[in-house]
Amino acid sequence: MTVQEGENLRTKKPEDILRTTLEIEKQNIQKALDIKRKFKGSVVWEKVKCGKTGCRKCQNGAFHGPYSYLHFYFAGKVKRKYLPKVIGELAACPKNDLEERLKELEQEEGKSKS
Ligand SMILES: [Zn+2]
Repeated sequence: MTVQEGENLRTKKPEDILRTTLEIEKQNIQKALDIKRKFKGSVVWEKVKCGKTGCRKCQNGAFHGPYSYLHFYFAGKVKRKYLPKVIGELAACPKNDLEERLKELEQEEGKSKS
């Protein structure tokens, strides 16, 4: 999150902030579920080389990340797809847990609207 986004959140009413985060969490869980249904792969955390000359992190072997990638089979080959951190973490969760959390969020959302 950038500083600017943080400032925007602070100017909102508490109920709006709750609604925003619920909505974002729901969207993220839905994205993760879509990925799991579509690809049937596994989430792997990998460190990467940036390829820049003189990068200290790469020179001392620390590299960058770890970043999350989905490894999946397509046409008999292993493919890699980059996932944003939150989506990677969610996609690594069991499908049932994600579906349960989504139900919980929908219930919470129902309460905050009434
Ligand atoms: Zn580097």
